[in-house]
This record gives sequence, C-alpha cells and structure tokens, in this order.
Amino acid sequence: MRLLVVEDDKDLNRQIVSALEQAGYAVDRAFDGEDGGYLGETEPYDAIVLDLGLPMVDGVTVLQQWRRAGKTIPVLILTARDRWSDKVAAFDAGADDYVVKPFHVEELLARLRALLRRAAGHATSEIACGPVRVDTRASRVLVDGQPIKLTSHEYRLLSYLMHHQGRVVSRGELVEHLYDQDFDRDSNTIEVFVGRLRKKLGVEVIQTIRGLGYVLAVPGTR
Ligand code: CA
Repeated sequence: MRLLVVEDDKDLNRQIVSALEQAGYAVDRAFDGEDGGYLGETEPYDAIVLDLGLPMVDGVTVLQQWRRAGKTIPVLILTARDRWSDKVAAFDAGADDYVVKPFHVEELLARLRALLRRAAGHATSEIACGPVRVDTRASRVLVDGQPIKLTSHEYRLLSYLMHHQGRVVSRGELVEHLYDQDFDRDSNTIEVFVGRLRKKLGVEVIQTIRGLGYVLAVPGTR
C-alpha cells in the first residue's frame, strides 16, 4: 500500500511518515497544497492524509480538485480542534474521514486501515485467503495459524494482493503501489519478492497469470 502525506508542519509530517513506514506502508510526502495536489492527481496512491491549513493551495481546494478530476482515493483530513466548519467543508468536498490535532498516531493508523479495507470491500482488520490470514492491525501474517516472518517489502506485497484478492494485479501496478517515489523501481524485483513470498508461505495462493500478472486465490479455486 502506498500513501501520500500532505502536511506543512515539518515535524508532524516527519512523525506521521515514519509511523506509516514503520507500519509497513510506502509513503510519499508533500509540504504544500501545490505539490501535494499534483502528486495526488498523478500518482496512484491507496490513501492520502491531507492537512487543511496548507501554504499555496488550502486542503479543501486540493481535495475539490482531486474529486473534480475523478479521483476516488480515500482521503483522511487533519484539522485543528474546534474548527467544525472546516470539517463540514472538507466532507462536502469529498473527505472520507478526519482526525483532530493533536492526535495519537495510533488513531490515525487505525482510521487509515479502516479506509483502506473499506475501499477494498473488507469489513474487518483481518483478511483471509484460504489458510493465509493477514492481520492488518499488527502487520502479522499467519498460515494455518502459524505466524510467518516477512520483510516489510514482502508484507507490503502480500497485503496489497490480499486487499485485492481474486483480481489479476499486474507487475506495473504492484511497482506503483509498493514503492515510494524515491525508490529505484524495477519490476523484475517484484518477481523476486513473489518467489520469496511463495516459499515463505508454503501454500499456493499466489498464482502467475502469464503476461498479465498475479492473482491471489484460495488454492484449488482457479
Ligand atoms: Ca497546516
């Protein structure tokens, strides 16, 4: 899962980004409405954290621009305490959720997980595919009830496929959703990660669709 954080307060931006990276997401950052607006419009994020009070272009305007351009990405806004009119304006502009500053980063993480799984049509924080279960709250993976140790890249890959199970996901799509902007992206590395992941899982849930990509499915159902 790849996220964008648009927040002009440098310390807060750094804090949010590092918490998200620790939770296993690929994260890009922007510090004003112009940069953030552009990134949100051109890059395929899975969710966006957007501050409302931003230099250059304010958050509500940025959000309106994305929605007008047909972007349906889940957007969580950050607002100052007691600015209820800001919240109303942001929801009217197409926000999906909000947290009020100052907030506990755990709350932000929980709300993002909820947005991501709702966008993918899952109702709970645990997603299962046959014997494989991903606990998105603890970033934990179990196969037949046994915990499996994955690197953060392997976890990201599996988590993305789990959120989109049953659908063919191309290598290009994976590259775009697993790495942040600054990462040296090479779609060949995806193949390597898939190979390692298959070995670690030990069950055939990731299938290769020749020429198209990968699909995650319960073994024996495709
Ligand atoms: Ca601000």
